[in-house]
Amino acid sequence: MRLKILGSAGSSPSGHRACSSYLLDDRLLLDAGPGSYMNLMRSKSDPNKIKKIFLSHLHGDHIFDVGAFIWGMATWERKDDLLIYGPAGTSRFVNDLLLEGNTPSSFVRFSVRVIEFGGGEKIGEIMTAKGSHTIDDIAYRIDGLCYSGDTMPTHNIVDLAKGCKALLYESSFRGGNEQLAHKYGHSTATEAAKVALDSGVEELILTHFYPLREGDVEGMINDVTPIFPRKVMFASDLSDIII
Ligand SMILES: [Zn+2]
Repeated sequence: MRLKILGSAGSSPSGHRACSSYLLDDRLLLDAGPGSYMNLMRSKSDPNKIKKIFLSHLHGDHIFDVGAFIWGMATWERKDDLLIYGPAGTSRFVNDLLLEGNTPSSFVRFSVRVIEFGGGEKIGEIMTAKGSHTIDDIAYRIDGLCYSGDTMPTHNIVDLAKGCKALLYESSFRGGNEQLAHKYGHSTATEAAKVALDSGVEELILTHFYPLREGDVEGMINDVTPIFPRKVMFASDLSDIII
């Protein structure tokens, strides 16, 4: 599997990071944070190779570019249906987005279908679990990759990731900031390392870095390696990770 990072910031984009978005083998998109569609274009990927979009939760930093992706697909004359998965409320969000965006039906000539998850589903190659955030968060397992969305540490994600090769996990703050992280439903780098260790994955990919604490990202390696002694990577926009 090839994971292309289209966005690795949390909350809002920085000068060199769009918000959370990850493209798996050109065909599956995990979240669509603001700035991610432009990164897709910069990577010269074809938007119409994307068959399915998986939304972890309905916070703006993970969904604001859903409209850009749909309009982008229409611009490139998509014919195939698009399937969007997400938590409860995703159907209403997508409908409202297209409606309030005055999307002409003569422009978007493909159908957009939405399937809502509550956590605990298994459909073919996809498994889900409920994260622990301030609103509903769905973590996804697709083949050898588990993606947390935004969450505090939870055994649900530990269990979901068991047997996966790689864990793509949010790391909003450095270790020592647990109280602050939990106030907003997030995890620290130290907690990400514990989840990775407990789940037994081989690789931990940290992402969702808060722009105002960009300087903390390098130091996170010191939080992670004493706990998780295997491979650790930091997501950076437009990089490819082979899983
Ligand atoms: Zn977020």
